[in-house]
Amino acid sequence: MQHTLILNEALAEGLDLIGDKWTLSILREAFYGCTRFEEFRQNTGISKATLTRRLSTLTDAGVFRKQTTQTGARKAYQLSRKGASLLDASLLALQWEAQWNQTNTKAKQVLGSIVHKPCGKHLKPKVVCAHCDEPIHYSHIKWLDSDAQFDDQVSSIKASHSKTRRRSAKAATPEKANLIDLIADRWSILILMACFFDTTRFDTFIKQLNIPSSILSERLRFMREHGILLKSEYQQSPPRFEYGLTDKGKSVFPFVMVLRQWVNDVMLQQAPNQRLIHTDCGQALKFKLVCSSCGEQPGVGDISF
Ligand SMILES: [Zn+2]
Ligand SMILES: [Zn+2]
Repeated sequence: MQHTLILNEALAEGLDLIGDKWTLSILREAFYGCTRFEEFRQNTGISKATLTRRLSTLTDAGVFRKQTTQTGARKAYQLSRKGASLLDASLLALQWEAQWNQTNTKAKQVLGSIVHKPCGKHLKPKVVCAHCDEPIHYSHIKWLDSDAQFDDQVSSIKASHSKTRRRSAKAATPEKANLIDLIADRWSILILMACFFDTTRFDTFIKQLNIPSSILSERLRFMREHGILLKSEYQQSPPRFEYGLTDKGKSVFPFVMVLRQWVNDVMLQQAPNQRLIHTDCGQALKFKLVCSSCGEQPGVGDISF
């Protein structure tokens, strides 16, 4: 199923870069205006070694620019334009955490305190189509079919998958699991994407994703335990089940799509995929995050905490 694979490709690259909770915490602090190593360390509680590694990865990727201060002694990490454009995905991650991760009280608190300065209202992020300004539901996305690159994509995902460290599932109990725990490996994203495009049955997942059945069972179980999927019986003898997204699962959609778009536009600097269409307006799919009150796109300098 090339649709799922095309969606996943760019997303996996984004998750490799920002896909862990430490990196998300660092970015969040950077959006609040934090620039110094010590500040990052105090505000996030990350160990020195981990913080050093994450900051250097983000600097190498061009998300931060490292600047020497006037005294020359200390370095400041400034968000680059590339980094600032991650604001949308980070706001959506925060919004999802505030809504679904009960133990993340800080997400709720932070989200509740963000003000969109141009309109003076509390910033409630909303994702709409960049062409027609309507909210985009995943059932309103159409694919103009093409088999091109199908084999390439399958093999590249498989190759990268074998290199990807499986993030530990044991650390994440259902109440504590954050967004990244749930989607931070390629198979989980593939399954999620297949769900967005109406795949419901075990055999169909296997056929479309070419996923080993043991891995599929394990990921489906994990996603059910974390309230992302529901399982229901559609046939009794022999028993057969189908899987559907819960509201919690459905609400991951804007985040994954906006992150994917960031990777595609900013990191890879590729032209948007013209085969993906928003059916409401017939234009190529492009997401835009706006303030629900005034409809404008917030920039880093437009928000205060
Ligand atoms: Zn549209
Ligand atoms: Zn506003």
